[in-house]
Amino acid sequence: MVVGGKKKGPKDRKPKVRKPGKKLGELYEISGDSLKRKNRNCPKCGKGTFLGKHKNRLVCGKCGYVEILEKKE
Ligand SMILES: [Zn+2]
Repeated sequence: MVVGGKKKGPKDRKPKVRKPGKKLGELYEISGDSLKRKNRNCPKCGKGTFLGKHKNRLVCGKCGYVEILEKKE
């Protein structure tokens, strides 16, 4: 493949930068000396597998389990 000639320049391609420590901080909340789990465990996969939080649903990335979050109001 030949790159070039298109309007999209190399600026559009940002290098992958990993934000350090974000994932664990989202899953756990440390209060005092106890650890609170923010995310729910997957009912299919069991403990240790958390449901990923999306806009209006929880999704298990392992088995594909989806739980819809209903809006309260
Ligand atoms: Zn699962």
